[in-house]
Amino acid sequence: MKKLYVLLASLVMLMAFAVAGCGSTTDSKPAAGASTGTAPEIKAIQDRGVLKVGVKVDVPKFGFKDPKTGQIDGFEIDLTRTLAKKILGDEKKFEVQGVTAKTRGPLLDNGEVDLVIATFTITEERKQSYNFSDPYFTDGVALMVKKDSGITDLKGLADKTIGVAQSATSKKAIQEAADKQGIKVKFLEFGTYPEIKTALDSSRINCFSVDGAILYGYLDDTTVILNDRFTPQEYGVASKKANAGLAKLVNDTINDMKKSGELDKLIQKWGLK
Ligand code: GLU
Repeated sequence: MKKLYVLLASLVMLMAFAVAGCGSTTDSKPAAGASTGTAPEIKAIQDRGVLKVGVKVDVPKFGFKDPKTGQIDGFEIDLTRTLAKKILGDEKKFEVQGVTAKTRGPLLDNGEVDLVIATFTITEERKQSYNFSDPYFTDGVALMVKKDSGITDLKGLADKTIGVAQSATSKKAIQEAADKQGIKVKFLEFGTYPEIKTALDSSRINCFSVDGAILYGYLDDTTVILNDRFTPQEYGVASKKANAGLAKLVNDTINDMKKSGELDKLIQKWGLK
């Protein structure tokens, strides 16, 4: 009997030891990157040595590729520089990839880019799929028509056709505005902005609608951007839903830039106010 007690006691001790051992193993084995308090996706960018960002290449002052030099520059490229500096300690350590309204989500999904900084409007629906930072800029949906059309406002587009991009917020915004004004408008959807401009040039459509900033990239001698603006478009930096650590770092950086006045300085630098 005594032997049995001893055996039981040692068994209990052994089990307690094993449990404690398990506990300590879990405690002492940090998640990848956690030893420095860095989220794994941030660590991965640091190990790679370059931040990959999806930007616009056809939006003057935001993300625009100079056709002569091939250089991409703008307010959103400057934001990219600040984030590269924050994550990698060097504002030059970034790579950009041109995106459209249609491609930017899939590029985030498949991990080809870490962030999208590309006139990406924050919406409740999009927040289901991606992390968005707090807004860094607010634009509005605008209308571009041919100068010789004589159209001066949305009312002038009653029963006419408006060209919009697929996967953009424009159609919903203009539909709501038209409903409010009690007019009917028709829409034609296109994959890219150059296609919409071509359709406007050939009078297949009567109007090209998207955010004002984007329309400026397509303005020429034959067209005019009307003064009306619809549905404020708040732009945020987007990241993959799973990358919460990266999203927090980005959001903290944007908010630090707001507090320090750096964001306003950039907005002024690019003549956006
Ligand atoms: N900003 C709008 C959106 O996110 C217009 C589309 C675009 O950014 O290309 O839907």
